[in-house]
Amino acid sequence: MTAAKFPACEKVLLRERRFLKFVVYYNQILFIRIRIFKGDVSVKIREITENIEKQNLSKYAALSINTKGRLIEEIKCDIRTDYQRDRDRILHSKAFRRLKHKTQVFISPEGDHYRTRLTHTLEVSQIARTIARALRLNEDLTEAIALGHDLGHTPFGHAGENALDEVHPGGFKHNEQSLRVVEILEGGKGLNLTYEVKDGILKHTGDAEPETLEGKIVYFSDRIAYINHDIDDAIRGGILEASSIPEECIRILGFTHKERINTMITDIINESIGRNEILMSSIVNRTTNELRKFMFENVYVGSAAKKEEKKAKNIIKSLYEYYIQNPDEIPSEIERLKAVDIERLACDYIAGMSDSFAISIFTRLFIPSPWQV
Ligand code: MG
Repeated sequence: MTAAKFPACEKVLLRERRFLKFVVYYNQILFIRIRIFKGDVSVKIREITENIEKQNLSKYAALSINTKGRLIEEIKCDIRTDYQRDRDRILHSKAFRRLKHKTQVFISPEGDHYRTRLTHTLEVSQIARTIARALRLNEDLTEAIALGHDLGHTPFGHAGENALDEVHPGGFKHNEQSLRVVEILEGGKGLNLTYEVKDGILKHTGDAEPETLEGKIVYFSDRIAYINHDIDDAIRGGILEASSIPEECIRILGFTHKERINTMITDIINESIGRNEILMSSIVNRTTNELRKFMFENVYVGSAAKKEEKKAKNIIKSLYEYYIQNPDEIPSEIERLKAVDIERLACDYIAGMSDSFAISIFTRLFIPSPWQV
């Protein structure tokens, strides 16, 4: 009896092999912990993890040991790889925490269950990690890129982005701003991330292809996340009926939120496994684009969900004009960034605001306060 003839046996053997690998890994970590406890740090946990990456990941994975590095060289962490360290820096940044009060589709929604830019980011990260792990690519690099990809998003979602794009000389793109956040703005000096994480953040949208497969995974995962959760939110908000989704999209991708996400993720894994590329099959890709087009026609442009957008754009443009006239009122953390011009200072400051902060500043600057008796 051979395992090859019996798929169930193969599964059991695979499970046992994985368990053995886990035991070896755990013992290695335990051994190192004991050595560190005794004061012997000649072998570091990071080095073991780098070795495990080398042994276990696909030949197409971006290994943390092969990073092109950071702009400013640093002593490496004893415990975490460079990509794990980048992920933690992003997670602990103020720009990341502000995402919880930034619009995804619905501006400042009152319901508890609508997505915000933060929950969108977490969904992107979860989808991207699932794909990366299945393809034995670098999950830590994937997670770092996913968590950082929207750090430069403006208040009020794409309405805010369009408003800044219209008034700021040279235009405005949220992916370029995300890079600016991690390179310069966060904490007044940036996060000094690795080249691969910055590359993935910059190229998560647009025409330029990320240099790593992990970056390409985030590109797809962003679309998978927002198309699907925006449908879910639009149904929740009464903008869409589940039955109004094009019949072809339901037939190929599935009827429920869960089914559609599963179809897209599984398709990418099947198409990309063992290849130096991240791909969707032409039929799933074409249908996903069809669904995206449907969302633009029914939710993203001109729907009831967008009725406050004009006001939101006015807030952003008014704040921009105000800070150009009054640059001294821009907080010192931004001011001391040696920006080349006042427009850039104003743009950076406004892009970093949450929805609620932009509304409160606008109210303070432009809405007269009632006289207190
Ligand atoms: Mg996104």
